[in-house]
Amino acid sequence: MPEKLKRLGINLPLLPTTSVGSLPKPPYILEARQKFSAKKIGAAELKALEEKATKEWITTQEELGIDVLVDGEMYRGDMAAFFAENLEGFRTSGLVRSYGNRYYRKPIIAGEIRWRGPITVEWWKFAQRLTKKPLKGMITGPYTMMDWSFNEYYPSRRDACLALAKALHEEVNALSKAGAKIIQIDEPAISARPEELSEFAVEALRIVTSGIDAYFICHICYGAFEFIYPEMLQLPVDNFDLEMSNSELDLVELFRVHPFTKDLSFGVVDVHSHEVETVETIERRIRKALEVLRPEQLWVDPDCGLKTRAREEAVGKLKNMVEAVRRVRAGLGGR
Ligand SMILES: [Zn+2]
Repeated sequence: MPEKLKRLGINLPLLPTTSVGSLPKPPYILEARQKFSAKKIGAAELKALEEKATKEWITTQEELGIDVLVDGEMYRGDMAAFFAENLEGFRTSGLVRSYGNRYYRKPIIAGEIRWRGPITVEWWKFAQRLTKKPLKGMITGPYTMMDWSFNEYYPSRRDACLALAKALHEEVNALSKAGAKIIQIDEPAISARPEELSEFAVEALRIVTSGIDAYFICHICYGAFEFIYPEMLQLPVDNFDLEMSNSELDLVELFRVHPFTKDLSFGVVDVHSHEVETVETIERRIRKALEVLRPEQLWVDPDCGLKTRAREEAVGKLKNMVEAVRRVRAGLGGR
C-alpha cells in the first residue's frame, strides 16, 4: 500500500529493505547485562551502553543502505518477558525451558493487565532522532504475549488475549503520538492454534490498531502458515512480515492458489544459519516472490530477528540483501 505510506509522508523506493527487529548485541552489552543482573552496575550505566550500541546499529544500517530502520532491541531480553515486566498484572516464574537449551522466565498473568505507561516510546524517540530514515515502532502482539505466558487470572485464553490487546493499544497509541508511522506487531505464535485466529486473534489486533493512523506490519515466524492462510489476511494490518527462506519458500506456492492481497515483507535470509547467503541466492528468492506479488507489494528483509547471529554474519546477510535488491530494482526500470 504505497498510497497509505505516501499519505503518512513516507517515501520509500520500490522493494523497501528493512530488518525484522533484533540485531546482535555487542559483547559489551552481554557483559553489562550480566553485571546488571548481579547488581555490579546500575541501570544508568547499562542504559548508557545500550544507547551506544543502538547508535552503532543505526550507523551500520545507514551505511548498508537499508530503507526502514529498527533500533535493534539492545535493551530487550526475551520479547514477551520484556513487555510483561513493563505491564501491570504480570509476575515472572522460575526458568522455563524452550527451544532446546534456551531457558527463560515465562511470564505469569496474575492480575488484571493494565498499561502503566510507555514501554518502548523513549527508545523509539532516541533511535529516530539519530536518523532521517523512518524507524519502525515495535511491540510484541497480544496473542503471542498470551500464548507465551501462564494465565492464572483470566477465565480463558480469549479473555487474557483481549485484555492484553487493550493494554497494547495504549502503547501503540503512545508510539503513534510520538511520531511513529510504521508500527510492527510481532506475533510469532499466531499460528499456534489455528482455530483461535477467527475466534479472537483477529479481534485482538483490531483492538490494538483501532483508530491509529499508521502503517501496520505483523511479523509472524515459526509459522505453520498453511493452517492459517488465507484466513490470516483478515488481520487488520497493511503488511505481513513472514519467514520465507527457512521454509524453502513453500508459501510462494500457497500464494499461487490464494493470491496475497496485502503488502509482504519477504524473508530472504535464514536467521538460523551461519552461512551468509550469496547475492545471487537472495536475488533468486526476490524474483521468486515477484512471480506471485506485484513489485509495489513487496518489501525485503531477513526471516526474523538477527540477534542470534554474530555481528559479521548479520552484517554480511544484510549487505548481500541490499545488493540483491539493487540488482532487482535495476531490472524493474523506474517503476
Ligand atoms: Zn520472528
